[in-house]
Order: sequence, then structure tokens, then C-alpha cells
Amino acid sequence: MPSAPLPETEAARLSALQALQVLDTPREERFDLFARLAADIAETPIAAVTLVDAERQWFKASVGLPMRQTRREHAFCAHAILQPGETLVVEDATTDPRFADNPLVTGAPGIRFYAGVPLVQRDGHAVGTLCVKDTVPRRISPRQLRWLGELAKGVMSALEMHAALRALGALAAQDPLTGCVNRGALHVALAKLSGLDGPPTAVLCLDLDRFKEINDLLGHAAGDAALREVARRLRAVVREDDLVARLGGDEFVVLANNLRRGPDAMMLAQRIHAAFADPFSFEGQPILLRTALGLALYPDDAADGEAALRLADAALYRAKRSGTGTVRHKLGEAGGGLRGGGVRSTLGRDEIASELRLSLAGASGSAPLLVAWQPIFAAAPPRGLMDAEALVRWPRRAEDSPLGPADFLPAAERHGLMSRLDRHVLRRACREAAAWATPLGISVNLSAPNFLTVDLVGTVEAALAESGLAPERLTLEVTESALIGDMARARQTLMALRGIGVRLALDDFGTGHSSLAYLRDLPFDKVKIDRSFIGQLAEDPRAQVLVRAIVQLARGLGLATIAEGVETPQQLVMLQAEGVDAVQGYLLGRPGPAALFLPAGPVPMLAAMRA
Ligand code: C2E
Ligand code: CA
Ligand code: CA
Repeated sequence: MPSAPLPETEAARLSALQALQVLDTPREERFDLFARLAADIAETPIAAVTLVDAERQWFKASVGLPMRQTRREHAFCAHAILQPGETLVVEDATTDPRFADNPLVTGAPGIRFYAGVPLVQRDGHAVGTLCVKDTVPRRISPRQLRWLGELAKGVMSALEMHAALRALGALAAQDPLTGCVNRGALHVALAKLSGLDGPPTAVLCLDLDRFKEINDLLGHAAGDAALREVARRLRAVVREDDLVARLGGDEFVVLANNLRRGPDAMMLAQRIHAAFADPFSFEGQPILLRTALGLALYPDDAADGEAALRLADAALYRAKRSGTGTVRHKLGEAGGGLRGGGVRSTLGRDEIASELRLSLAGASGSAPLLVAWQPIFAAAPPRGLMDAEALVRWPRRAEDSPLGPADFLPAAERHGLMSRLDRHVLRRACREAAAWATPLGISVNLSAPNFLTVDLVGTVEAALAESGLAPERLTLEVTESALIGDMARARQTLMALRGIGVRLALDDFGTGHSSLAYLRDLPFDKVKIDRSFIGQLAEDPRAQVLVRAIVQLARGLGLATIAEGVETPQQLVMLQAEGVDAVQGYLLGRPGPAALFLPAGPVPMLAAMRA
């Protein structure tokens, strides 16, 4: 079967087609109407508005055809566009050498009759056709042909209108000075974020330091040049499909999609920072462009894009207050690292806090806090199950996914509910674990505010006593922030806990003050290496050096090491080579019901698969 030769001006024709921006757009009623009218006029069961692309013909609209595209070599229309001024009529395809063995003729849909009017642009390129087809041989009258010709002109002008509207839309979304998208377009992009799950999107707010001075002292031309330069540098460090917006004045926002969790966002922030290290030159005068940055992640920190923008903006405000050259993550925790909680904006913090208070009081009708378990395995093969960490979850409504700590711990903290929350989780975790058939060790998190203020030792003793859990099975995890301030007191509490037989782990090691003194002077049994290091392990040699140092140090002090947030086999292999004792992370098991990993759990299917 001979495929149609290419038009002489094929390259120009294809770019004219591209410029229409219509390929692969959704169906539209007005184009469907053209197809129906064409079928009506020609009295055929099949009609279509087709576009002839490099390798395919694509149907913008059709009646009587199930597919949306065919290969170009099978397209009658690829022949029709060769004579832009004429309609190609094939009365019986089986007698036409060009089409007799075409699979659309010999097989389904069994085309016998074809008439195609080229869709010709003003500059003479035929981008496609308005065509009609039938499965029996037939003729078409001059009057029908005339009408189809008129209709084809209508289709062409609708296509051109379509392209013009799109171009106008793009223009309206642009900031003319910098070529960045404008505020309106940013809000559209933010709205699209909501409901997406998948990798997080970073929202970075940034503004120029001393912009007013540049404007006032060097003039508006310098100010404009500075803004253009900022836009240029930002675009150079983000990926092509990331979005750089200017909100007016010297405020810019970057939306960076598809990040891996923390490390990526922090690296991006650092890249942006580095991009402003050198001054730019305006009329021979070097101008230093200093910026402050605020950062928040969707969906990690906020339930929708707008809320993430607000958090990032608030973080920017704090970054500016604390001096330029600072990056702040949304809550502005000490160190500005990518850690800690946030709040879903759909529900105010106060609302969360009052619901939480009811739940902790065991009010009837309120949703109780539950415990998800994440398994911890020995790092060395055969990687036996060692422990499980209790992580609090709150399924407030049956239909939603449960809230995680980031959604409600900040509210609990502000409203002084943390010690009640910790006690609740501790009791519940001990009770559940005591009922397991396998006496696995468990880890429970203690919050910093709780640590020194309540009768922690009494609470732990009570939880053990009422559940019957053996003290050696329980590890309490505390972060460094719980220890700062009163070392002597911290030591006393930890010794007392030790005294009742429970173990102690220093959590998130490496993120806070990473003080060796804590490890040396306080009676910990284990160190948990923070997941931000593990996430960077494969890419960042510094992370590797740090992990190695922590493991060696811990070993020297007689402490076990646990690596958190292990997500890839490569990380696992590296950690094992570094001599880490235990591993925990999505690669090995996500937080969930303990039955998923307990050897003799009530899920026989899983037990059987493991065996
Ligand atoms: P954490 O103690 O560092 O707990 C580990 C967190 O890392 C958990 O998040 C867990 O779901 C997540 N995680 C585990 N494996 C991976 C992985 O491979 N990749 C990544 N990206 N993440 C992983 P979660 O449950 O959201 O808990 C966050 C933090 O909230 C905990 O960090 C802990 O500090 C706090 N928390 C959780 N439950 C409690 C609780 O009952 N009481 C107190 N006081 N704090 C809690
Ligand atoms: Ca923990
Ligand atoms: Ca941790």
C-alpha cells in the first residue's frame, strides 16, 4: 500500500499545525457539531475533523468512528492535504490503487467511500481535513461538495479562533516585565494542586532585599533590570515545568513539582540562594541581589495550594525578620530545617484542638486517636523483625484518610494537650503490644514539652502495670529538643526511666543540636539517624560521611543505631555497609496495622506468603 508522499512544505505545514495548539485537546461541542453537519450534508455514517500530524492523523471531532487517531500512512486525509485547493473524492476505495489494500478498507471499519476537504490556513498550509466516509461505494453531488467546502472554511476559522484564544490566555497570564506568570496564573496553578497526591510540590516565596533602595537610589530602570535578573536567575535554577511567578513589586513565588520529601526542597532552596551569590551589573554598576526565602510543601504542610502559599509567605516574613540569607520552612522551627508539623488549613487549629480535647477525654461520639505501627528490622541479612514504632493517627471521619501527627500535633502543643496525648498513645501502644502473640519490642515517642513537666516516670509505670507489658519491651524515643535547657534534670528523668527497665532512644539525631554531649552523658541505648540524611545518602557524599561518623561514634559509646526513612534498596545496602544495626522506612514497611508484619498476626494470607 503506497503511503502518501509528504507535501513539499511539510516542515512549515507541521509548525503551522503546532501553532494551532489543538492536537490532543479534549473534545469540544462546536467541533462535534461540524462533524455532525458534515455527515448530514453528505448523508454518510462517518464524518470527522482531522489533523494530519507528523506520524498520525488525529481527530478533533468525529461521528461514527471509535478511535481518536490512526497512523498517518493509513490516512486518506494524508492524500487529501496534498492538493489544498481541492476536495479528494474516492468513490470506491477497492478500485483505487492508493487505498485498495489499506487496512481501514480491507478491515474495520471497511471504508469504501471518502470525500475530504482540506482545512487550509491563510498562509496556504493544509493542516487536516473535514472528511466524510461510508462503508459502501457511492457518489457525492456538486451541491453536497459545495456545502462541505463552506463548512470546512467554518472549521478552519474555529480552529484559528481556538489558537488565538489560547495565545491571549497565555499573554493574560504573564507579567510583561519579567515574563514570569502573574498572580492570577499562580492561583490557577495552586488550585490545580489540591487533591493531587503523589510527590510533594514546594511553594517558595521570595523577595528582594533593599529593592526599594535600588529603585530610589538608582532609578526605575535599575529596579526593572533587577527584577528581570531575578526572574532570569530563578528560571535558570528550577526545572522547565516548574513555575516562576511574580506577584507584583519584588515578590516572587516558585512552584516546584515532583520533589522527593525534605532534602529536595531544601536543596532547591539552597540552589536558589546560591543563584544570588554574585551581583549583577547594571550600567557598569554591580548590584547585589539579596533575597529571603520562605518554604512550605504541599501536601506535607498544608491541605491545599493556597494554604501552602500562606505558610510559605509567613515563613518568608520570619526569614526577613531574622536577617537576609535565611531560608525558613513554614513553621520556622529552630534551625529552619525541614522538620516538624504543620496544620491542614481546612480546619482551624482551634477547631482541631477542641475536637482533640474531646477525643482525649474519651467523649462519646468523638473519634479516638489510634496507633499505626511501623516495623523496624535488623540491617544485616536475613533482616529479622526487631521492633515496631508506634505512630499516632487520627481518623477523624470515616471517609477521610486519617490525620497524621503533622496535622494535629502543633495544635495539641499550643493548647497544652501534648502530655495527655502522649499518655493516651503510650497506654494504647502498651495494651496492643501486650496482646500480640510475638513479644516484639515497641517504641513510643515522647514529646519535648511533656518530657520535663509531668510525672513521666509515674505515667510509664502505670502504662506498663495496667497492660502487663514487660518493661524491656518498651523503648521511649525522645528528641534532642526535649533535652536542651536542663541537662541535669533530663539526666535524672532518663536514669529513673532506666531504673524501671525501659530503654531509651535519641530520635531524629542530626537535625537539632546534634550535640555529642547528649550521647556521651545521657543514658541512651539507641540513636535514630534522622531520615533527612538517609534520603541524601545516595546523592550526597557528605550525608554518607555523617552517617559513618554517627555509627562509629555510637558504636564507641555502646549505642545501637537505627536508620530512619529507608526508601530505596541502594540506601539499604549502603547502610548495611556502614554497619548500622537496624533499619526502618517505607522500603521495608509503612506505618499501618501491626497485623501486617507480626509473624502470627490475624492475616493468614500474609503469613502464608511470607512462609
Ligand atoms: P518520627 O519519630 O521521626 O517518626 C517517623 C516518621 O517518619 C513517621 O511519620 C513515619 O511515618 C515517617 N516515615 C517512616 N518511614 C519513612 C520513609 O521511608 N520515608 C519517609 N519520608 N518517611 C518515613 P509520622 O507518623 O508522620 O510522624 C511524624 C513525627 O510525629 C514523628 O517523627 C514523631 O516525631 C511525631 N509523632 C508521631 N507519633 C507520635 C506520638 O504518639 N507522640 C509524640 N509525641 N509524637 C509523635
Ligand atoms: Ca520516633
Ligand atoms: Ca525520627
